[in-house]
Amino acid sequence: MKKDCVFCQIIKRKLPAEVEYEDKNIIAFKDIHPQAPVHILIVPKKHIPSLNEFKDKDFHLISKIFKIAQKLAQKKGIRDNYQVHLNVGKKAGQIVFHFHLHLMGGWKK
Ligand code: 5GP
Ligand code: ZN
Repeated sequence: MKKDCVFCQIIKRKLPAEVEYEDKNIIAFKDIHPQAPVHILIVPKKHIPSLNEFKDKDFHLISKIFKIAQKLAQKKGIRDNYQVHLNVGKKAGQIVFHFHLHLMGGWKK
């Protein structure tokens, strides 16, 4: 855990979050400032700042994260209406430097 990392604190339950999914390696919770009717962040429990810091041994987490995106889209009833999104670097809009995939969807039109 990185003490000053907001997502590490959520993982350790030192900060609250609305958790949608959790297993040994991954947690998914609602974004605090949703940009879509459904906006969930899917996060590896291991503190990896961005896609750039993934090592060979970490890439299995990416397939797990996408599998969870598929399952959550089904669970939330948005399987024909969602985007997955990830930001790398400040200039691209990354504000939390603990890797996460955005699952956004459920638009009405
Ligand atoms: P980024 O821009 O880094 O890809 O996305 C970070 C996301 O984390 C933003 O959409 C932001 O609203 C969300 N976020 C930041 N702090 C918190 C928090 O404390 N709790 C939750 N649930 N989401 C957060
Ligand atoms: Zn972290």
